[in-house]
Amino acid sequence: MRLMPLTAAFLLALAAASPVVVFNKPTKVASDASSPLLLSIHKPQAQGQGQSQGHFAPVVALEESGDDHKKRPPRVNVTAWFESYHRSDDIRQYFLQLADDYRDLVTFVPQLARTYEGREVYAVKIGAKGCESRDKPQVWIQALQHAREWATGTTAQYLAHHFTSRYGKSSNVTKILRAAEIIIIPNMNPDGYEFSWDADRLWRKNRRNNGNGIYGVDLNRNWPDHWGNGGSSTDPDAEDYGGPHANSEPEVRGLVNFFKSQRRVLGAVDLHTHAQLILRPQGYTNASSPHEAEMKHVGDTMAQVIKGVHEMEYTSARLHEVSPLLTSGSTVDWFYSDQAASANGGQRAYSYAFELRPSPEGSEGGKIGFILPIEEVVPLGEEIAAAMEYFVEYIVKNPLKEK
Ligand SMILES: [Zn+2]
Repeated sequence: MRLMPLTAAFLLALAAASPVVVFNKPTKVASDASSPLLLSIHKPQAQGQGQSQGHFAPVVALEESGDDHKKRPPRVNVTAWFESYHRSDDIRQYFLQLADDYRDLVTFVPQLARTYEGREVYAVKIGAKGCESRDKPQVWIQALQHAREWATGTTAQYLAHHFTSRYGKSSNVTKILRAAEIIIIPNMNPDGYEFSWDADRLWRKNRRNNGNGIYGVDLNRNWPDHWGNGGSSTDPDAEDYGGPHANSEPEVRGLVNFFKSQRRVLGAVDLHTHAQLILRPQGYTNASSPHEAEMKHVGDTMAQVIKGVHEMEYTSARLHEVSPLLTSGSTVDWFYSDQAASANGGQRAYSYAFELRPSPEGSEGGKIGFILPIEEVVPLGEEIAAAMEYFVEYIVKNPLKEK
């Protein structure tokens, strides 16, 4: 086998002809090892259970031969992508194609976790590949921890689109991607997400079988920092069931391990809906964190930046300023925790949980707030992208210092 120069030339010509690359919708998730679209993808570390269910096709780093570019699978139309919500397989395909279309910027990182139903948790890393260094700062953004919060998924997709499509065009984005690497986990709870499509639109948890016909752990109560210290349930039937023990869930465990294997994460954002809040530590206690002033400054500024885009009001607050209840085992504490900092070369991360649109008023007082009208997906993406541009730029210059 040999690398296929024709394929590279073909893709370059395609990219030159069309700055916004047009994808066609795939008929199924790409598993076609003959596809030149998958050239830049990492070889999987393992291939295991779950393939038979068709949720996760092994992705092979490959060499190309012959006229395989003629057999490329249909591509997704990126300009129409944000006109509907998408299933897990299609979202994964979206990111695979992004990695292929922006090989100098995007790396697809497969198999961070395998869910109970055999699906893959993966990441993409976005940064200018010519500007690597051992201590290049990183920023972590994750979505769909809670299954029903679909607009977090579209926001992660929009952020990836925003940063890739503006590299080399926007001086700010270009500067950011040269200075830092953005890690996006677009769909950290694919079992729950699929269940929210197929069975229960308002499903929140993952799909652990707790026995007796009861399913699910609230992943955002399972992170290994002050786990079970209040604000989570020990009842497997509860929406905020924290799991049998800290870090018990494959989705959380996989991401904890992935986080710990990174170079230098300066900040982390966990996307949720809804109520238009920018929340900072701490969740397990009423006490302010030692970095309250720094994180308040950044949270408040992100709210201002968001308002400047479409006039939406987001409230920047400590978790406890908006909720009298404790919340233990959540990401907002874990990203900021001693454990995460020590795994991160001693660098403590700015940590936020965003609650995206709609506002509490826009939610009509109920769970309808989890169902964001599709017309709001792009405006939401635009305002969060602006906040993330500020966030990355600021924290690269002002990393948290230990006190
Ligand atoms: Zn949530």
